[in-house]
Amino acid sequence: MTSSNGSKMLILSSPSGAGKTTLTKKIQQKYINFKISVSHTTRKPRPNEVEGVDYFFISHEEFKKKISKNDFYEYAKIFDNFYGTSRDSVNELINSNNNVLFDIDWQGTQQLSKFKELKLIKIFLLPPDKKELKKRLIQRNQDNIEIISKRLKAYDNDIYHWSDYDYVIINDNLEYCFSQIEKIIISETK
Ligand code: ADP
Ligand code: 5GP
Repeated sequence: MTSSNGSKMLILSSPSGAGKTTLTKKIQQKYINFKISVSHTTRKPRPNEVEGVDYFFISHEEFKKKISKNDFYEYAKIFDNFYGTSRDSVNELINSNNNVLFDIDWQGTQQLSKFKELKLIKIFLLPPDKKELKKRLIQRNQDNIEIISKRLKAYDNDIYHWSDYDYVIINDNLEYCFSQIEKIIISETK
């Protein structure tokens, strides 16, 4: 990893559907010196997703080629697809003195944690309970029922990793959760 030049790396992880994407976007809107690291994925785009904004959508073949070229700082296989953080996009953000926001899973967080020179702030989000998580995954209306079931099944294993993180926040009321994250940003960027 390139020297982080003082940039903070704010990681949000959670079981799928707990609110990472919503909160990452809110952070970027209010804190303009925090920029989202756009990942590469082999997952197919959801109806509302935009290439280069939500993800760079690539084929399995392209992803494997990138792995062999060592293009990723970290990558993981999640729900049958690959997801990865490209070195070039993160370095570009760091070199233009931005802080970086990562919406990545616990496997990616473990891999980034090995780069000791990075100033990571690791936040784990939890839904109030599994029933509410299911409701959110259904209401998001972006995945079919099989995909939703797979995501719910992963919940028990996902939450087991909360102890790898600096902060654990329950995303019950969105605005309250956001205010908790803001407190962390303010205290960590002083
Ligand atoms: P993730 O990125 O963790 O998979 P999303 O940000 O896509 O989760 O959120 C899943 C769904 O839950 C979305 O429809 C989002 O609008 C909704 N959501 C997020 N936070 C809350 C909250 N605090 N209360 C109710 N719904 C929420
Ligand atoms: P989704 O398919 O809902 O967009 O994301 C599924 C999971 O992949 C989420 O937990 C999300 O945080 C994670 N994810 C997205 N991009 C990356 C990445 O680049 N690396 C890793 N390790 N996980 C990612």
